[in-house]
Amino acid sequence: MVDPTSDLGTDVTAENAPHCASCDDPIVDEPTHRVVTWVEEGVTETRHFCDETCLKEWNDGR
Ligand SMILES: [Zn+2]
Repeated sequence: MVDPTSDLGTDVTAENAPHCASCDDPIVDEPTHRVVTWVEEGVTETRHFCDETCLKEWNDGR
């Protein structure tokens, strides 16, 4: 179920939470949550990470 009026982080469950692009854990209201967005061929890509460590690992592994 998608509730567009809910702000991300206030009502996130494991079911609708984004998954970490590095370790694939669901990110549920993580204070260390990192989001990276970029535009590739006109499409906005978004990746979520639990924290800086996962973000760094993902960058290193690309
Ligand atoms: Zn992670």
